[in-house]
Amino acid sequence: MMPATYALVHLEAAQHNLEIARRHAPKARIMAVIKANGYGHGLVRIAQALANADAFAVARVDEGIYLRNAGVRRPITVLEGFTFNEELDTLLHYGLDSVVHSFIQFDVLERRTETGQMDAWLKLDTGMNRLGFKPEEFDAAYRRLSRCRIVRGPCHLMTHLANSDAVDDGKTARQLKLFNETVRPYPGLRSIANSAGILAWPDAVSDWVRPGIMLYGISPFPDRTGAELGLQPIMELYSRLISVKPLKKGETVGYGTGWVCHRPTTLGVVAIGYGDGYPRHAETGTPVLVNGRRVPLIGRVSMDMITVDLETQPDAKPGDPVCLWGRNLPVEEIALHAGTIPYTLVCGITQRVQIIVDEPRNWPARA
Ligand SMILES: *Cc1c(COP(=O)(O)O)cnc(C)c1O
Repeated sequence: MMPATYALVHLEAAQHNLEIARRHAPKARIMAVIKANGYGHGLVRIAQALANADAFAVARVDEGIYLRNAGVRRPITVLEGFTFNEELDTLLHYGLDSVVHSFIQFDVLERRTETGQMDAWLKLDTGMNRLGFKPEEFDAAYRRLSRCRIVRGPCHLMTHLANSDAVDDGKTARQLKLFNETVRPYPGLRSIANSAGILAWPDAVSDWVRPGIMLYGISPFPDRTGAELGLQPIMELYSRLISVKPLKKGETVGYGTGWVCHRPTTLGVVAIGYGDGYPRHAETGTPVLVNGRRVPLIGRVSMDMITVDLETQPDAKPGDPVCLWGRNLPVEEIALHAGTIPYTLVCGITQRVQIIVDEPRNWPARA
């Protein structure tokens, strides 16, 4: 029996999306970004599906441990690096590489007497103002890192783009210029581009690229879907109708009284809610596929259920399949209706949602 609510994951799409990244950056090596549980798709599962990426990136040390324990042998870079000595111990023990982004990390690095145990990515802050050394600090940071015996030299050089999804904005060009000018004197491999950089900013493609969202088949741009970029979504979110009933004019539905029925219709109740990661802020009118056809969400999203207007499908019945996003309903579109970005939707799938890998033996009965 299929669970009422599940995410169907098409792993072969991951390969396809990696191929698209390679096509945009044919000379670059690819560090596949699989932080946050592989953007909600399953950390180890995604690492295995992307086994021919050149390296992986995660945000935290524990994500790296998890991958190593699952047998992943490729280089893994921890994007947030380490703060404490114990964290560096762990990082070294598991053979993880680190971003070095603040002077406080040197106090920890300089205590180590072993040689050449890890790769380091020295990060320049070119305007993100999150992690990284300022241009005026960079030379001092580079020199100090070069003297850390624990690091294999020369260190690599990186920055992160703050606004690369806005293709008309000048910030990216300024960041690229600042990065190139600042790192010019130093050897070491360079890395700048995230997905939007790879897809929209050819000058951001350097020795290594760091695609994240595009590998999951999702567009980094607010005005384009992954499909329009030649990508294939990995995740489809499914549930089913659990109740169908007539609704009279003047009735309200669910919590609150914000939505009032204007004409008699048929109401459908779907077994999914914010307790599954469906966005609480999805507005009335957000499309939902019932039996493969669009109907509008009505009323508020609750923890375990949403309600839909089945006016166009009066014959729908409990048990019928419902798709919340997937190949025929872009998650990018749902994000717009929920006032958010698709990243948060896929990352936000909760424990309750069983992930089913799309293999013939797992295929549910779909209409
Ligand atoms: C998350 C992240 C990426 C990937 O970004 P996408 O927009 O998902 O492609 C790349 N680099 C760094 C430093 C990141 O934190």
